[in-house]
Amino acid sequence: MDAAEFRRRGKEMVDYVADYLEKIEERPVYPDLEPGYLRDLIPTEAPCEPESFEDLMQDVERVIMPGITHWHSPNFFAYFPAASSYPAMLADMLCGAIGCIGFSWAASPACTELETVMLDWLGKMLQLPECFIAGTHGHGGGVIQSTASEATLMSLLAARCKAVRRVQAVESERSESDVLSKLVAYTSDQAHSSVERAALIGAVMMRKVPTDEHFAVREEMLKKMVEEDKAAGLIPFYFCATLGTTPSCAFDHITKLGPLCNKENMWMHIDAAYAGSAFICPEFRPLLNGIEYADSFNFNPHKWLLINFDCSTMWVKKRTDIIGHWQIPLGRRFRSLKMWFVFRLYGLKGLQAHIRKQVALAKEFESLVQADNRFEICAEVILGLVCFRLKGSNELNQNLLKRITKSREIHLVPCQLSGRFVLRFAICARTTESRHIQRAWRHITQLAFELLQDLH
Ligand code: PLP
Repeated sequence: MDAAEFRRRGKEMVDYVADYLEKIEERPVYPDLEPGYLRDLIPTEAPCEPESFEDLMQDVERVIMPGITHWHSPNFFAYFPAASSYPAMLADMLCGAIGCIGFSWAASPACTELETVMLDWLGKMLQLPECFIAGTHGHGGGVIQSTASEATLMSLLAARCKAVRRVQAVESERSESDVLSKLVAYTSDQAHSSVERAALIGAVMMRKVPTDEHFAVREEMLKKMVEEDKAAGLIPFYFCATLGTTPSCAFDHITKLGPLCNKENMWMHIDAAYAGSAFICPEFRPLLNGIEYADSFNFNPHKWLLINFDCSTMWVKKRTDIIGHWQIPLGRRFRSLKMWFVFRLYGLKGLQAHIRKQVALAKEFESLVQADNRFEICAEVILGLVCFRLKGSNELNQNLLKRITKSREIHLVPCQLSGRFVLRFAICARTTESRHIQRAWRHITQLAFELLQDLH
């Protein structure tokens, strides 16, 4: 493909993408396929001779599209959102064209410098304390990671290093392996599985802190565990708090947990993978109160801030704590371009409007559930996630979800809350409107009606 053909195909591709997104609602949101469907649809080996672009694009519709779960369909309500916007897609195109591998300043100064400034811009939108902002003289600052899982791992490794150094500064005879074997990290029993995996990779013990009736960690519970562990000769060194848990969007009490961690010399990392985007709205910013006690903080603009995957932003209070643990890969894409495009073309107001609209849609769905006494709400609706279920057994709700999934009209996933099987309804696509919420609810109640009829 030469430049002339690229110009032509590029324009065709933009049309294909725009058509796909404009008409996405016409496609079933969830594929109707069995695992292994794809292998039989394409040759067993790569072609020897070049093929035509037309043939390739035909195969996108024949082979790929039937196997896509359409995350950007307004009928998609599963997991958490995957952010997407036209400005971010355009920036990604430019990123591909520049194609630098930004592992050092010299490897592309703009790549390194724009990232630092974008993290400051975003940090200021979130009203992060000054100590997290790099500016020109700050000790803190931010970095883009690929995922929240990586950010958690980086924070845990940095905390581990710091803890070993601290213990050895007092007890110089203690070996590193001895200290490591005594380190203990904590997180909520509602935390994402990536937190436990970070401890596994970091080869340290991790204990799960039980949560209260709102699925949040309270200071007393962590304090009790820390005291028990210290009495047993262990060294508590790290706590990963969650703001907006995956199952129910619960918020750990960081205003109380933070001082405890500071007092005990424990690194506090905050995982706000989904909820973090909402903190750009003044009315949701109080949910981040207590951030001043944290050593590191992370959330995923690629979930809810209209910046396509991957863009997970992490800030630390002291850059010197994390040098050597900034990231796993050496090479990095020019991801801050997507932030720059989105921030400039939406403006803070546009981004706030997006968050507010989606929270309002979740509230609308919550009201529909509350108005139907066959159903119940299972956790407080704070942002864009509604946890609900039919009053009755887990089996009943599993059957309802099976019917919903099979219909392929809307897509949801479940969670477990206190042993109960619960349906999660997350407002995801940028184009979801009230009519999609109303339609989804009609669909759910129709399927529930049929299910209850079949049981009688
Ligand atoms: N933390 C929380 C609270 C999440 O909800 C999720 C994913 O939904 C993750 C971490 C993992 O995110 P990532 O895929 O960016 O690692």
